[in-house]
Amino acid sequence: MMIVMKEGATEDQIAHVVDRVESIGCTAHISKGELLTLIGAIGGRDKEQTVSGLGLEAEPGVDHVVPISKPYKLASREFRKGEDSVLEIGGRKVGGTNFALIAGPCTVENRDQMLASADAVAEAGATMLRGGAYKPRTSPYSFQGLGREGLRLLAESRERTGLPIVTELLDLRDLDDVLEVADVIQVGARNMQNYALLGEIGKSGRPVLLKRGLSATVEELLMASEYVLKEGNENVMLCERGIRTYETAYRFTLDLLAIPALKEMTHLPVIVDPSHAPGRRDWVESMSLAAAAAGADGIIIEVHNEPEKAICDAAQQVPTSEFAGLTAKLEAVAGVVGKTISRV
Ligand code: PEP
Ligand code: MN
Repeated sequence: MMIVMKEGATEDQIAHVVDRVESIGCTAHISKGELLTLIGAIGGRDKEQTVSGLGLEAEPGVDHVVPISKPYKLASREFRKGEDSVLEIGGRKVGGTNFALIAGPCTVENRDQMLASADAVAEAGATMLRGGAYKPRTSPYSFQGLGREGLRLLAESRERTGLPIVTELLDLRDLDDVLEVADVIQVGARNMQNYALLGEIGKSGRPVLLKRGLSATVEELLMASEYVLKEGNENVMLCERGIRTYETAYRFTLDLLAIPALKEMTHLPVIVDPSHAPGRRDWVESMSLAAAAAGADGIIIEVHNEPEKAICDAAQQVPTSEFAGLTAKLEAVAGVVGKTISRV
């Protein structure tokens, strides 16, 4: 159930509704918009029935009470009355009319590589910098990332460029280290349904980029986001990165229809990873532009100063020398659908 408070409802009136909702064992999630405050009543013994039975419509300050019909509650569009969530990360906006251009290497390899890549994406006008210090590799014998040294190089890159850092947390045991550096915690496709990890990231309050699992439906992606949202962390972006299908001509099938579908289902920003599905750099530009044209709120793209020497995902990383050209095209396509690349 969602309780929509009247414009100008007082703090006391909000607190009273929260008390009543909690009195029947539900959790109250307060969402304060520009004009309206919404209270989501989640859980409880016999949720829909019990909350409707409270007669909250009659309480002072309450405008109306609406059931949220979907299994995902806090993520659903209904929860925000159709308004898009706009996240603010290091002064950059994500969502609404903003297009987030998140760029950087697949993984942090060494100081020269990381700083050269960071400088180039900053120069080309990226919104945020990506780079993995902990890598989920298919083979346990492949490079697993630099770990804490990688985080240190990301911190140095942020100091130099001013760009917020997006980096993956693979294992809860590294949460505190990652929290020291990450402006956005990336949850990789393989961890989308690691609910313990999602819950702890939720409690941390840190913005999250949640990637769709290799064989997850869009509804399962939304249910996963709910694990973060229910801890009171509203700073969630969803990411389509390609799914497993019968097709073998490329690494994964980039599901571009997930963009309009998710935009209809949720208020959360939708980001596209155009790099991992093609698996080769000559298809990355068209997928980036297609994502922008389909209404994505941004992309997270792999860019490397010397891709041919990259330790992982060498074939798909775009050279820094080509990134400014791609940015200009993206700016144009995003403009056609009413979005502007997000910068400070
Ligand atoms: C990545 O972004 O480098 C990555 C490993 O992505 P995914 O979890 O989507 O495979
Ligand atoms: Mn990669």
